[in-house]
Amino acid sequence: MNVAVIGTGYVGLVVGTCLAETGHDVVCADSDESKIEMLRGGKPPIYEPGLEELLRRNMEEERLAFTTDLREAVAKSLIVFIAVGTPSDDSGGADVSGVLDVAREIGRAMNGYRIIVTKSTVPVGTADKIREIVAAETSEQFDVASNPEFLKEGAAVDDFLKPDRIIVGTDDVRVAEILKEMYGPFVRTGRPIIVMDVRSAELTKYACNAMLATRISFINELANLCEKVEADVDNVREGMGTDSRIGYAFLFPGIGFGGSCLPKDVRAVIRTAAEAGCGFGILEAAYAVNERQKIVLLDKILAHFDGDVEGKLFALWGLSFKPRTDDMREAPSLAIIEGLLERGAAVRAYDPVAEEMAIRMLGDRIELVTRNYDALKDADALVVATEWNEFRRPDLKRMAGLMRGHVIFDGRNIYNPKTVKEVGFTYYGIGRT
Ligand code: NAD
Repeated sequence: MNVAVIGTGYVGLVVGTCLAETGHDVVCADSDESKIEMLRGGKPPIYEPGLEELLRRNMEEERLAFTTDLREAVAKSLIVFIAVGTPSDDSGGADVSGVLDVAREIGRAMNGYRIIVTKSTVPVGTADKIREIVAAETSEQFDVASNPEFLKEGAAVDDFLKPDRIIVGTDDVRVAEILKEMYGPFVRTGRPIIVMDVRSAELTKYACNAMLATRISFINELANLCEKVEADVDNVREGMGTDSRIGYAFLFPGIGFGGSCLPKDVRAVIRTAAEAGCGFGILEAAYAVNERQKIVLLDKILAHFDGDVEGKLFALWGLSFKPRTDDMREAPSLAIIEGLLERGAAVRAYDPVAEEMAIRMLGDRIELVTRNYDALKDADALVVATEWNEFRRPDLKRMAGLMRGHVIFDGRNIYNPKTVKEVGFTYYGIGRT
């Protein structure tokens, strides 16, 4: 099938590349010329494991092309995905102006029947708005469907190629059949393609992220309780996770959820519920808990140094909001960095892949190094903000030799407190004493 994907960010690029991988002819369009230039050279502008190889192969086999010209992409394609960003607006709601602008451009570019599919996470009712906007621009026939994306950064290619399920929101049987045909190769292991009405599909994506965020805030609040009552959240978590009704996923205590999806999607659901006049108390609480959790580690740092970190040097391991991605949007590391810098401390950071992103977001406000141990030299403390695998089993004796202060603030509970203390470190984790 001929497919266009508008927006080649974390989602659009993976969607386009993986669809090409199953034999579809895909043109990806993005308004960012520098991204398209990189992509034409076979280089992904983002870090995502496995993506570059697929990208190059499908470009070489001429199933995948990149353009800045949306018109060219739409003219060739039966199915047009919209995968541009939907950031929070000032009220916390999702700003869908990018999606609607693209819809308008699609309407103007159409030269025959098209199925316009929202991949972006959009509030209930957005498909109706798209329909109106496109209809005002063209006399061609078209349908609008919702097909929310559930991939996770860091495992995006795998998630897209082997999804748990695919949600298709449409009232039109033909559209459902065409999208089922397109997705056929991805569900050969029996995973379902669930067809439902458009509004429910739009809401399903938010419901999933809202639930995941709530689980994270639940375990974080439980961790804080554990500290007060001298219990160990890791033991409690194990006891909970083995309950088949509960499971382990998204039950890891830490320094809060971040990234480009959970925080903004939670805010959007809260906003949608407020507009609908019903409120969503549990999510409001989950969000408030998360805001507090982002500074839990900073509070521990300040308590340890009697409130005075001026002139101190902090080594920071991990900048991205989670491992295996360079995405730093709303990363908890940022809240810690800001808190330290504004109190006169210095930060020297290492992240396996987020260095370029950090330069873009923080400039020269922090020092960046290219090896994890280099961050430690003469540092007064180590702060672990992201649980990259390579941080899990470091040479503690070597670390102790490099650092001036022997204290570790472990925001992801990746160390065994006993082992770390044996080497002479003072240890602070989340929810364990
Ligand atoms: P992103 O910011 O990485 O990418 C968006 C891309 O759209 C950018 O490359 C931008 O240049 C391009 N763009 C913006 N306006 C355009 C226009 N008018 N024409 C052409 N291109 C345009 O965003 P993302 O992380 O890929 O997220 C996209 C959507 O997918 C969001 O709604 C997000 O909530 C949703 N989503 C994201 C993830 C994720 O893990 N990142 C997962 C599931 C769903």
